[in-house]
Amino acid sequence: MAGIDYKAVGLKVGLEIHQQLATRHKLFCPCPTGLSEKEHDEFERSLRPTRSEVGEVDVAALFEWRKGRRYLYEAPVDASCLVEADEEPPHEMNREAITIGAAMALAFGSHIVDEIHVMRKIVIDGSNTTGFQRTAIVALGGKVEVDGKEIPIETIAIEEDAARKLKEEGLRIRYRLDRLGIPLIEISTGPVIETPEEARQVALTIGQMLRLTGKVRRGIGTIRQDLNVSIRGGAITEIKGVQRLDLIPKVIEYEVLRQLRLLEIRDELHKRGVREEDLDQEAVEVSQIFSNTKSKIIKRVLKRGGTVLAVKLPGFHGLLGKELMPGRRFGTEIADYVRFWSGVGGIFHSDELPAYGISSGEVDAVFEALDAEKGRDAIVIVAEEREKAQKAIEAIIGRAKAALRGVPRETRGALEDGTTRFLRPRPGSARMYPETDTPPILVDEEILREAEKIKPEPPSLKLEKLMHKYGLPRELAVGVLRDLRLDLIEGLMERYGDKVSPKLIASIFVVTLRGLRGEVNVENISDTQLEGVVRLLADGIIAKEAVEELLKYLAEHPDASPERAAEELGLKSVSREEAEKIVEEIVKANIEVIRERGMRAMGLIMGRAMAKLRGRIDGKIVAEIVKEKIREALG
Ligand SMILES: [Zn+2]
Repeated sequence: MAGIDYKAVGLKVGLEIHQQLATRHKLFCPCPTGLSEKEHDEFERSLRPTRSEVGEVDVAALFEWRKGRRYLYEAPVDASCLVEADEEPPHEMNREAITIGAAMALAFGSHIVDEIHVMRKIVIDGSNTTGFQRTAIVALGGKVEVDGKEIPIETIAIEEDAARKLKEEGLRIRYRLDRLGIPLIEISTGPVIETPEEARQVALTIGQMLRLTGKVRRGIGTIRQDLNVSIRGGAITEIKGVQRLDLIPKVIEYEVLRQLRLLEIRDELHKRGVREEDLDQEAVEVSQIFSNTKSKIIKRVLKRGGTVLAVKLPGFHGLLGKELMPGRRFGTEIADYVRFWSGVGGIFHSDELPAYGISSGEVDAVFEALDAEKGRDAIVIVAEEREKAQKAIEAIIGRAKAALRGVPRETRGALEDGTTRFLRPRPGSARMYPETDTPPILVDEEILREAEKIKPEPPSLKLEKLMHKYGLPRELAVGVLRDLRLDLIEGLMERYGDKVSPKLIASIFVVTLRGLRGEVNVENISDTQLEGVVRLLADGIIAKEAVEELLKYLAEHPDASPERAAEELGLKSVSREEAEKIVEEIVKANIEVIRERGMRAMGLIMGRAMAKLRGRIDGKIVAEIVKEKIREALG
């Protein structure tokens, strides 16, 4: 973001990288580790954990209103068993997953624990049929070097992925169990990252190293980055679920902005002399005022027998409309709290009224009913069934009080555009309980030996190799080193390097794909498709001139095979003889012009020839042939 001096605001970022592992089976059962669209059985559950297990006051309160929720689970026959359904205890933890964790630990110089103990982490959203997630620490400490700076690694853990949420319909939430139990590695760094771009670089480096083990799942949704972001005077915000590397800097920028704006709101409230006890406001029922309202939402609620409650926020005039990040105002934050704590879908506040069918007369009447002062206080209106509306008012008061203290501790979810929304308050640390169903696993010689075999080289060591082994010029080698598909590029140079020059393979990624980025979504092109393109080059089916157009097509047709695409686009290469025939025909058809203009007809003939041959043979060869054939024609 232009204008933010990250050093000056004291930005600190820590990363938590979650990557699905491509093990032969899941973490605690023999099911495979892929998603499934096959037929499924279905069963329903309600929330299981008892209040004492949940522990914290906040979470217990939350649990209260979530009690009515029902969770529907789809259990695909080929990707889940009794373990996912919690009908059978977990089997012994997958040793292959532990080995991958140990390999990363060796690469980071971390201390590997002697014995692995599985722990339970409480999960209250139904995404685990057990009500908790199983997780195990494999190693502690270590470091990774990124652009000359040492980034400390705090922990390396192996855990089970959660069930896949398909739909939320009121109190019924539908999950699919194929993803539940897929092993994840979780790598967390110390909070020493000082700029948004540095965070991206660290995530890239760790992501590359994971891929270099050859043991991770690929594609959208298989890697998720969580960010812990704080600034001086703010609070550590945990942002969950950033799926794209390129989004990381933006998410951090927006979070810094949000915290700065919240601190401004705090300072403004202090300046206005607002104290916490001023906010001990009672909800007032104002249904009467809306008996003839034009607001469709309120009309509907009243017809159902619901109620309209309003509350005064003394001294908050103008602050609810303040933008914290693009498209999200302080009022939006309050609405998210309300939704979380009460299930009420929305609120109306005075910084956006009159609107939504609520008239200025109605607004004035509510101000009067609350004994609120325009230009000084804010009012918030909630229309719902009475009990829920009352809880919503409590959530509003709670969030307004927190504004006096600045930035609340919370967990937020990343959205597609880099903004974030409130998910839940940040839990304390004491949420882990030992898993009693599985015995501890000894990290033995066998695990360590296997780990040594797949231990990734740090990307910084790769530069030398890229330049010397594959003969890449430095600039190109650096480009490859900064590419998340480093392992794929290296593998392709290894497998096809005798037929396609490594320089060409590297430049497909570093130059061609990057160049196409503004035009099409190159992330859509799968590793298999990219390999297919290189194979077509290796087999002489396409010329290097065809690569760009082919990639563009594949980005727009993620299911197409490169071979079929090359055929459809007419990109299959032609031999010199075939090209000569095509040029001869063009010369014959234009013989009059050639006789008239002589060699000056070259441009015209070249243009017509290229229209037929572009991408199918080197343009230099076409020029040679054209010159030759015109000379022949002129005798
Ligand atoms: Zn299973």
